[in-house]
Amino acid sequence: MNLILLGGPGAGKGTQAKKLIEKYQIPQVSTGDILREAVKEGTPLGKKAKEFMDAGQLVPDEVVIGIVEERLKQPDCQKGFILDGFPRTVPQAEALDQVLAKMNSGIDHVISIEVDEEELVTRLTGRRTCRNCGQMYHIKFNPPKQEGVCDKCGGELYQRDDDNEATVRSRLATYNQATKPLVDYYAGKGLLRTIPGAGQIDDIFNKICSILGQ
Ligand code: ADP
Ligand code: AMP
Repeated sequence: MNLILLGGPGAGKGTQAKKLIEKYQIPQVSTGDILREAVKEGTPLGKKAKEFMDAGQLVPDEVVIGIVEERLKQPDCQKGFILDGFPRTVPQAEALDQVLAKMNSGIDHVISIEVDEEELVTRLTGRRTCRNCGQMYHIKFNPPKQEGVCDKCGGELYQRDDDNEATVRSRLATYNQATKPLVDYYAGKGLLRTIPGAGQIDDIFNKICSILGQ
């Protein structure tokens, strides 16, 4: 099963992806996670990406398309994958179609998780992320059992550099301008399902599972 999770920054894509991994035993491919890892390691890619990420802008298409192409060729993606944060532009979506066609594969489902903009700001500015395993929490909506410590692995929780209000506003503007057109792109292909992203995390997860129907 090849799945794309669409939705604004903070819509809950990563939160749902982590639950889907467990249920469907397929990997999450998050371009944001891959880029943050490169920034942390100080690789040439990381150095190039950091300025865009800090400004709430998109890393150039050719860079992320190359990353995803490499990642989807890995053996663990053969039985399926969950794309989270990619594609984010129409050229990225077109490139993805080409990459998958070359692999005799394609996208099975696109699920767009819809959340109001002000709610997205509240979610992102209160988000905490595990440095070790990447699990997400929210200081109010989904707090860890012990403050600052990941429930899953005991790792340290931190606030992402780009989860401050100014950068969040810029990320939302980028989303509206560059990424929202993908809703029409996938609707036109008959692949899109839209779900409301407000409410309990488990209820949203159940809705996604009923769409996936497995
Ligand atoms: P995305 O991957 O789409 O950017 P995340 O999954 O990281 O979003 O979620 C953003 C923030 O919102 C996190 O702090 C997460 O704990 C919180 N969150 C996720 N789903 C919900 C929900 N249904 N209700 C309230 N908060 C949520
Ligand atoms: P995310 O973790 O998905 O919120 O992404 C964090 C940041 O990484 C974004 O604000 C972008 O700067 C960059 N990024 C992640 N995915 C992409 C993508 N598909 N295209 C361009 N930039 C991306």
